[in-house]
Amino acid sequence: MAKVSIINKVTNFSEWYDNVVEAADIIDKRYPVKGMLVWKPYGFKALKLTMRILEDLLDEYGHEEAYFPMLVPEEVFGLEKDFLEGFSGETFVVERTISRNLQRKFLLRPTSETVMYYMFRYWIKSYRDLPLKLYQTVNVFRYETEHTRPILRVREIIRFNESHTAHATPEDAERQIKEAIEVYSKFFNALDLAYIILRTPKWDTFAGAEYNYDFFTLMPDRRAIELGSVINLGQKFAKAFEIVFQKEDGTHEYAYQTCYGVSERVVGVLMSVHGDDRGIIFPPNVAPIQIIIIPIVYKGTEDIVLKKVERVFKQLKDKKFRVKVDYSEKSPGEKFYYWEMKGVPIRIEIGPRDVEKGVVVLVRRDTLEKITVKDEEIEGKIRELFEEIKRELSSRSEKWLNENIFSAEKLEDAVRIYNEKKGIVKVPWCGDDECGQKIEEETGLEALGFDPEEKIDGICSLCGRPAKHYMYLGKKY
Ligand SMILES: [Zn+2]
Repeated sequence: MAKVSIINKVTNFSEWYDNVVEAADIIDKRYPVKGMLVWKPYGFKALKLTMRILEDLLDEYGHEEAYFPMLVPEEVFGLEKDFLEGFSGETFVVERTISRNLQRKFLLRPTSETVMYYMFRYWIKSYRDLPLKLYQTVNVFRYETEHTRPILRVREIIRFNESHTAHATPEDAERQIKEAIEVYSKFFNALDLAYIILRTPKWDTFAGAEYNYDFFTLMPDRRAIELGSVINLGQKFAKAFEIVFQKEDGTHEYAYQTCYGVSERVVGVLMSVHGDDRGIIFPPNVAPIQIIIIPIVYKGTEDIVLKKVERVFKQLKDKKFRVKVDYSEKSPGEKFYYWEMKGVPIRIEIGPRDVEKGVVVLVRRDTLEKITVKDEEIEGKIRELFEEIKRELSSRSEKWLNENIFSAEKLEDAVRIYNEKKGIVKVPWCGDDECGQKIEEETGLEALGFDPEEKIDGICSLCGRPAKHYMYLGKKY
């Protein structure tokens, strides 16, 4: 399994990705259910560290964590008709035990709107109960009919962080949408991922929603991938689920709701975007191992080298760094490749001469630059390098995304540009839904959405009427 190979990430992305997620001990694909993965401890640690950043942010912004059940009675699931229709093709049904049929049908949550809102109606009675801001991080199940891809497109999403809020006024729900966008922006910034935020065109809007925004970034194969969604549900679910509250003036109204979600997909994306031909590069804040120490021993110098290795290890561990020593029998060169592939941000090499001189050699994973530092400066230098690595990853990701967004005035130019360069191409659009769908048809590309704030001066690339927005086109994961 621990195969180390150098694969060009950009030209052979599929091969690179499939190789890296297994060779680096992120997941094991051999479990015999398609789209359901085993996460190995190393990968799972990265996932936990990543999700913790988001949960801390949600807590900071006044959300509370709760837990709701995995099974949804069929009749509850069907209360909001658009939602039922939107998820009917991908929702698993539980209707029997091995030997008996059940009296009711249950569905495995593909997302938890119906589960939570069934309870919200008991909890929300007065304007004093609002706003309500909850989240949970749970597994959800979606029968993906398209090709599954490890972590990126799966049938069991194992860490779906879904937030659900309820508000007394449409203005407060709007404010919540802005807050959610702020939370997610901070989250993706913390992962050093560049993104664009687009409003989804109407015909692609989340089932049962008024409108939604998606965060997109660009994978190494120049296809767009959705990182997270922020959704304004309006009162549609409140009406379906009877979530009614008494206002200050004594009258009654349905609550206004929002929801937003992010999943483990973000870990698949950050490994892909930050990695290089040698393998993964984890940002230090989510790296399962932040520092790997490699003893360089020769006959007769084992004692002094290992003594120093132990000392440096203990010093860093005491300071709460996630640090490990590779004592295996492999050669130093093999160890270098192996830990580079696994994405450890900093390697420390300690050999007999370093012991003599009172120094160690630090190697950055992102640039492979070697830096010799005095023993007493190790800790400070590592903290400094962590910051520099994050800045470097972030600017690479920004550059990759920006270099691959193009614009075209005419549809035929958009198609030509896409065929040459892939990425994302934006074209002027009048804002009319029918026109937008025709743009998709004529270009054979998918509409990712539009930025309502972006200024535009031009005519629709399809109908020639004045343009209202740039429509962003590409191919989605
Ligand atoms: Zn038009």
